[in-house]
Amino acid sequence: PVLFEHVEKYYGPLHVLKGISGHVDRAEVLAVIGSSGCGKSTLLRCLNRLETINQGRIVVTGIELSQPALTRKQLRDVRSQIGMVFQQFNLFPHLSVLDNLTLAPQQVLNRSKQESQERARFYLEQVGLAEKIDAYPDQLSGGQKQRVAIARSLCMEPQIMLFDEPTSALDPELVGEVLEVMQQLADKGMTMVVVTHEIQFARDVANRVLFLDQGLIVEEGPAREVLTNPQSDRLHTFLRRMR
Ligand code: ATP
Ligand code: MG
Repeated sequence: PVLFEHVEKYYGPLHVLKGISGHVDRAEVLAVIGSSGCGKSTLLRCLNRLETINQGRIVVTGIELSQPALTRKQLRDVRSQIGMVFQQFNLFPHLSVLDNLTLAPQQVLNRSKQESQERARFYLEQVGLAEKIDAYPDQLSGGQKQRVAIARSLCMEPQIMLFDEPTSALDPELVGEVLEVMQQLADKGMTMVVVTHEIQFARDVANRVLFLDQGLIVEEGPAREVLTNPQSDRLHTFLRRMR
């Protein structure tokens, strides 16, 4: 569902992505790792066109995002296929969990209230939070908020989920419950791109891993293999620092 080729991205004079190529197959989990500032978030943001690229090609669910003539409808279609979960949970604080989950499906997908609520219940159940349906975000722990954020994305029934360090803002004891939900999602066959510092998770759950360093892909391959047996000095050093 995702293909990117020779992608170059500048912020003004800053060359952030220096011609990187890759793909994510259906039902595959791709982990993206690398030090701070290497361009991980930028890559994710290019994949759902929160950022435009300067050079290269990106195709997501059959739509070429990098084409100059991309129509609003195409952008809307492709965005509706992509769910994104960030480090900060971005829940609407003044809305209950249920309303957080049903707002976009009603407004963007024109779903009925009843259908939206049914799906909301289904996905809340899936992330283990059925009993929090009437709670407000400030009544939830960080881990619970992030699980609600994942459920909210799932309510849009995306084909692809992008995760940008979804556990980095969490207290260590809350990381596990979020990773567990992500693992279940992967087991169900969701296509996922996960930017993460959780090397263990990447090794166990991701099919492939991509190691970015200063805007270039330095290593790429089967997650278990690459993370157990790094070939480059740079990945070797990176992994040692992460431990
Ligand atoms: P981290 O692990 O800290 O989240 P990252 O790998 O996600 O880092 P990016 O956020 O992609 O890194 O940033 C890559 C580079 O681009 C950094 O040098 C950053 O300062 C710069 N950058 C990111 N966003 C912008 C922006 N909107 N305008 C200008 N420079 C930016
Ligand atoms: Mg980032």
